Amino acid sequence: MQAPGAENVSSMGSVRSCGNVRGMHLGMRRPITLRAHITMDFQINPATLQGPVYFCSGTNKGIERTMIADGETSPARSAETGAFFDAIVVGAGFAGMYMLHRLRELGFSARVFEAGGGVGGTWYWNRYPGARCDVESMQYSFSFSEELDQQWNWSEKYAPQPEILSYANHVVDRFDLRRHIVFDTRVVSETFDEKAGCWLVETERGDRVHAKFLIMAVGCLSAPNRPNFNGLEDFNGPIYHTGQWPHQGVDFTGLRVGVIGTGSSAIQSIPIIAQQATALTVFQRTATWSVPAWNEKLTPEYLQAAKAEYPALRAKARARPTGFYFPFNTKPALEANPEEREKQYEESWARGGLPFLGAYGDLLFEKAANDTIADFARRKIRGIVKDPVTADLLCPDNVFGCKRLCVDTGYFETYNMPHVKLVDVSRTPIERFTAHAIEVNGVEYPLDAVVCATGFAAMTGSFDKIRITGRNGLTLSEKWRAGPRAYLGIASAGFPNLFMITGPGSPSVLASMIQAIEQHVDWLADCMGHMRDVGATSIEPILKDEDAWVEHVNEVSTVSLRSTCSSWYVGANIPGRPRVFMPYIGGFPVYVQKCNEVMNNGWDGFILEGAQDSNAAPRVRYTERWRVPLDIEVISPAAVAARRVPVV
Ligand SMILES: Cc1cc2nc3c(=O)[nH]c(=O)nc-3n(C[C@H](O)[C@H](O)[C@H](O)COP(=O)(O)OP(=O)(O)OC[C@H]3O[C@@H](n4cnc5c(N)ncnc54)[C@H](O)[C@@H]3O)c2cc1C
Repeated sequence: MQAPGAENVSSMGSVRSCGNVRGMHLGMRRPITLRAHITMDFQINPATLQGPVYFCSGTNKGIERTMIADGETSPARSAETGAFFDAIVVGAGFAGMYMLHRLRELGFSARVFEAGGGVGGTWYWNRYPGARCDVESMQYSFSFSEELDQQWNWSEKYAPQPEILSYANHVVDRFDLRRHIVFDTRVVSETFDEKAGCWLVETERGDRVHAKFLIMAVGCLSAPNRPNFNGLEDFNGPIYHTGQWPHQGVDFTGLRVGVIGTGSSAIQSIPIIAQQATALTVFQRTATWSVPAWNEKLTPEYLQAAKAEYPALRAKARARPTGFYFPFNTKPALEANPEEREKQYEESWARGGLPFLGAYGDLLFEKAANDTIADFARRKIRGIVKDPVTADLLCPDNVFGCKRLCVDTGYFETYNMPHVKLVDVSRTPIERFTAHAIEVNGVEYPLDAVVCATGFAAMTGSFDKIRITGRNGLTLSEKWRAGPRAYLGIASAGFPNLFMITGPGSPSVLASMIQAIEQHVDWLADCMGHMRDVGATSIEPILKDEDAWVEHVNEVSTVSLRSTCSSWYVGANIPGRPRVFMPYIGGFPVYVQKCNEVMNNGWDGFILEGAQDSNAAPRVRYTERWRVPLDIEVISPAAVAARRVPVV
């Protein structure tokens, strides 16, 4: 009997070399109906809950309780042992879903393990009120299928989380992927079997399965950061994390709510929580730059016109440093006079969203230029927030756009509501939780419920949670102790046939992520297809090429003001993490060009083993659409630097 989806196992060269593989599927898998997870048929009112319920307590036990309290039950099934797949994919967000699609198209057997009860990743977990994308929906979506582009209709400029989750479910069903995904199953260990030349993957449910390729689609923002405050366990009310929101929703009516954090999730949720709560207290460590979204419904006329131009829009997006298209003024801010600048900033503010940073070309590269936009945005905040003390606290004093820029609907306006209070915890941090309050600087703020909008252990957090052991017993966490090291952000020396989608050292979170995901997946699909064509058994980066790439990523990052502040890009939100600028800031097209060169030159910087002709020019099946010229009109200083400093 074959494992489901393992029909083509014999197509891979190394399969027969895996001595301990039986190709058997011994477990039972029950199809999971996602509808149960996405229907919000009732809401939890924490006031009606008996006794303390900790949705996140900073411990594993807390996570389990979250799952139970969410109404999520893991369907019973017996552990699966001995099955062998061409590829195992960890994670069923957009990255895992698209990887699976390409693997199936190529005829590879594949299994996806997903910790959650459904697909969608970010959009499965982050169900907090107000959650939505901040890259316009028409671009924050897959671009690999023109039919999909034409047939799917987004309702709003920035789609809300339930709609993005519906889209993920639509895609997974449309391309018949669901039957290859095992939900409610967290991968805990991955071990490379050097003799057999394959990976052993183990899950918390006792599964032990093997694969030639192991693809980490675990997400850049998928490991919630749960700060361990003093007395957390003493608090009598519920504590939520925005990144693990109860699926039934939460009704804060009649409650005194505390929100910890003022990053993107806080900025999206605070205006909505404020509408329900009787009192809302926001605990702010660092003030955040945010630009109005001016979100709106998309009319049928708009959609029709936009879809007529969709292929052109997608092509333009691929040529942009961010991987998505928006009007961009390359002129330096410092060359404009103050009146011109004011006009330009007003126009860009009126357009809103992330494109506000496209008002001038030097804003993230010249501090003096950045000061002009920061000054404008501070005046906007002061113009909105009536209480001058609160307005001052809400005005960031760091580089504009240094941390990820936030996009909001009515965030600053919320502080004009009489029941909303801002507490500065920058100098005097939260001291402790008590049974009914949070204490700061000797003052108790009485609360019935707390929302931790404290973000994620970005980029590497989900890797850290899995014991990944490569050649010679080397673990990935040991290798990455001083910061992540990966060639092109795709693979790491010592870990053959292990790939990462949007890994550290690739544009990832600095690009529109679905485009970054698609480019990686297409490249990987071509790589694996090539390996099968030439009978290669393994691929692995050469250490010196990996080192040179990591150095290049660091070097280019220093060109941007983004490297100067304490953001999650550098791991600064998690105590004890090494400070390394993790994403590649040289621009999406520069990076894509490098990936294409590596492929064209016979996998430059990689060692291929077992191939009859490893340097053969690959048959390009999928990456063709990424071979677009750099849009010189909008080339950023970082992209210039990336081209000047030889891209290794
Ligand atoms: C609130 C929010 C809003 C965002 N908005 C935007 C936006 O507007 N534009 C943009 O470009 N990006 C945005 N992002 C980034 C977003 O993460 C990406 O756009 C994209 O969804 C990432 O997809 P992914 O598949 O790579 O990762 P994820 O969606 O994070 O999926 C990873 C999956 O892997 C699973 N997983 C992890 N570890 C394991 C394990 N050990 N075993 C089994 N499963 C595991 C997780 O459960 C998760 O489902 C946003 C992120 C957040 C949190």
